[in-house]
Amino acid sequence: MPESILPGSTIGVFGSGQLGRMLALAARRMGYRIHTFSPEADSPTGQIADREVCASYEDLDAVRTFVRAVDVVTFEFENVASAVAQVAEEAGVPVRPGGHVLHTTQQRLREKQFLTGAGLPVTPFAAVRTLPELEAALARLGVPAILKTASFGYDGKGQARIDRVQEARAAWHAIGQQEAILEGFVDFEREVSIVAARGSDGSFAHWGVIENTHRNHILDLSVAPASVPSTTAGDAVELARVVLEKLDVVGVLCVELFLDQQGRLLINELAPRPHNSGHLTIDAAVTSQFEQQVRAICGLPLGSTELLRPAAMANLLGDLWQDGEPDWAAACAIPGVKLHLYGKQAARAGRKMGHLTVLAGTIEDARERVLAARRALVREHGIVNHQ
Ligand code: AMP
Repeated sequence: MPESILPGSTIGVFGSGQLGRMLALAARRMGYRIHTFSPEADSPTGQIADREVCASYEDLDAVRTFVRAVDVVTFEFENVASAVAQVAEEAGVPVRPGGHVLHTTQQRLREKQFLTGAGLPVTPFAAVRTLPELEAALARLGVPAILKTASFGYDGKGQARIDRVQEARAAWHAIGQQEAILEGFVDFEREVSIVAARGSDGSFAHWGVIENTHRNHILDLSVAPASVPSTTAGDAVELARVVLEKLDVVGVLCVELFLDQQGRLLINELAPRPHNSGHLTIDAAVTSQFEQQVRAICGLPLGSTELLRPAAMANLLGDLWQDGEPDWAAACAIPGVKLHLYGKQAARAGRKMGHLTVLAGTIEDARERVLAARRALVREHGIVNHQ
């Protein structure tokens, strides 16, 4: 095992959202210090961190000063310029996962090319740089299809669904006429993910298959373990193992997959960090994805990923604040509900504000209870909905 970065050391995280916040909570519990860097002040991560640096990712002098004050650098989202990772690498501070992982995963085309090059199954796709290229790609892949910007897309942002060939021009304009990929629409049976970790010694750990439901392209509900045949689960884990090894990841990475009607697994995308679908590991596993990220980037042995009980996680989006503050007491009154809020001030529609997790005897029971808890948050006509 390479030399460890021990508790008492300082972890530097680029990005300051909820993923950094939950990483910071895990890191502080283990006795690490944590610094965060992003353009935002009083951020979800900054509220927990020992130090919050507010600067632009383009301010490479500020990046240099930041990395010199930490013992290891990590990221909580992949859209940070790879120049940032390069500055840290040049300063001699370990960057985990390395800049090459950011470089590959922050651009959909590069990511798809990596995956196909590694012999891994992906959704049918074509590179698109112009409208005529889009039309040619549509002729090849057929409709329905989804046009996605190659860079800076997440939660369905920068995406346009095309149901008829005549919609090509409108879709091309909708995504801002920029480099993109066209993907064939997968009539999936279900969506699943594998959240996995790789240590600096090449060790591998995963939490099994998690089943995900999206609403408006945003994750809505995750349950674990997923109801898939054990051979499918084994295949999904093996795909993830190959991804982490071939990408040479040190840290946590999520592989999002479609399971199609024929039972085949297709990789939708990679997230080289803890992932929303892995939030249930905080309450439901011996080691959470965030503690695992700390262990992996600090060169400690990976922890047990044993699931304690079946679990369900429901996201809380800003839309829930539409009629005022949600009824927290009503949700917390449901047995077994765990409330996680990210400390965000503005509750905009579609913004991830927090999540609820429930552990139960079966995934059906966990799902039902977490959905009941989320429903209980909504006050009807200003009347508190206590049961
Ligand atoms: P993405 O940002 O690429 O992860 O897309 C967000 C969500 O949109 C996915 O989780 C799916 O529910 C849906 N989606 C994206 N790409 C496809 C596709 N090629 N076929 C079917 N659904 C898709």
